[in-house]
Amino acid sequence: MIHESPAFYQAIADRLPLPSKAFIDGSFVAAKSGAVIETVNPATGQVLAAVAHCQTEDVEHAVAAARRAFRSGVWSRVAPEARKAVLLRFAELIRANSTELAVLESLDSGKPIRDCLKEIAIEVPDTFQWYAELIDKSFGKVAPTGEQACAMILREPIGVVAAVLPWNFPLLMAAWKLAPALASGCSVLVKPAEQTSMSILRLAELAAEAGIPAGVLNILPGLGETAGQAIGRHGDIDAVSFTGSTEVGRLFLRYAADSNLKSIGLEMGGKSPFIVLDDAELSPEMIDNAVMAAFWNGGQNCSANMRQIVDRSRQEEFLDRVVERAKALVIGAPLDPATELGPLITREHRRRVLDYVESGSREGARAALSGAAFDSNAPGSFLGPTVFADLVPGMTIAREEIFGPVLGVMPVDGIEHALTIANGSEYGLHATVYTRDIDRALFMARRLACGTVAVNGFTEGDLKTPFGGYKRSGSLARDKGTEAMAQYLQTKTIWISLGDAYASIPG
Ligand code: NAD
Repeated sequence: MIHESPAFYQAIADRLPLPSKAFIDGSFVAAKSGAVIETVNPATGQVLAAVAHCQTEDVEHAVAAARRAFRSGVWSRVAPEARKAVLLRFAELIRANSTELAVLESLDSGKPIRDCLKEIAIEVPDTFQWYAELIDKSFGKVAPTGEQACAMILREPIGVVAAVLPWNFPLLMAAWKLAPALASGCSVLVKPAEQTSMSILRLAELAAEAGIPAGVLNILPGLGETAGQAIGRHGDIDAVSFTGSTEVGRLFLRYAADSNLKSIGLEMGGKSPFIVLDDAELSPEMIDNAVMAAFWNGGQNCSANMRQIVDRSRQEEFLDRVVERAKALVIGAPLDPATELGPLITREHRRRVLDYVESGSREGARAALSGAAFDSNAPGSFLGPTVFADLVPGMTIAREEIFGPVLGVMPVDGIEHALTIANGSEYGLHATVYTRDIDRALFMARRLACGTVAVNGFTEGDLKTPFGGYKRSGSLARDKGTEAMAQYLQTKTIWISLGDAYASIPG
């Protein structure tokens, strides 16, 4: 339940200890070099804490601990019921501490508290619970052989894995990777984004309290070029599950090729379409979906539907309604439960987004709503929503991932044109289609080159459905659902040859 008063959350923020040390081998420790990174509150621009800046020697320390724990079998080989019980306890502890975790994440990331609460009180613990419950229901296979053999196909934990995370959904992305990795029996290193380490560091305390053994979970805050690269190049990490930009995803493939050929799972950027065919019903819910598809989390969402591809016959009606709704978005302090749009992650990122807004105007898009005019007295990195119309495919804002509150409407002529424009992107993470005709809905859903298609609603599915991208949005790896386990398990065949001494005996 969401408390209505901002003062309620501010009071929690005022008394919360701010975690700042790395978590390695069951203890909170400073970086070996003593280096720190200042983490800033995006709503105020003020430094919140100086967080440990882990580097190569800290990664070495954590990998050695993780490997030792994996070899000892203290987690990797315990009875499935025992691992399940610990992860269920972990889920309960997260639920019990979710308000504090949400406040911590809201302070550190600028995300509205209402979104943090939904993610951290519900989705994060549900994810741990769901994978915990899967542990003692996952069977191996027996291959069809003759009586002279028995061939078993088993799934075994891959070993030491690392989760490298972005800043836009800090705990949720951690849960999407940690829950299946821990459920599979792996030992894990987590490298949070440098802007948002605090909620994940607090999670480590709860993990220890739940009974996850020392060395099985390690949290290494640090910069990408230092901690991130040291993880990518480490010779004793078996797999990396990465979520972030396509540019850095490419680096991880390079790191793996240059080191031990570790397995790399990639969840990356997007430029997802929101398609409105000529028969779509422009209901208030549909307009809400269009606006949230673009502006939820300030547009800092990999599956944000920024290219809104609308049949030309409906463009003006759609545009008017979207602009009206976008103007009503409540922009404000992240700890105010009424806030729908908080600040962007940093001032530098805000500058990058404003550069895109300027390029849109320069390249001929029509500004129907200008976020650049948004005036905030707060010193943080706030930016209001921008809506452009008359986008054409060649424009920079029609091609590149902006990762900010900038929606572009592209008019099209008919279903075939809509499909061509939608698929004309190097990305392929998500798409939404609005139509009242089931034949057209299914045709579009089948032909769209992307990992998730939402029909008549904006959604990424739920924790049971796999999430990941086609083309430059991802590798074959998926987060969520049973498919996520493939990133953390490897397949073993055990072929037992049997004698034929009894072959002639009738059954
Ligand atoms: P980013 O690629 O800059 O950073 C992601 C992580 O990689 C961070 O932990 C960062 O420290 C690390 N990193 C950065 N440079 C590195 C380097 N040289 N070597 C090793 N590690 C390095 O991404 P971001 O800005 O944190 O997040 C935004 C991006 O994430 C967007 O492109 C967005 O689309 C994507 N994203 C994708 C999904 C998905 O599920 N597909 C979900 C959320 C975000």
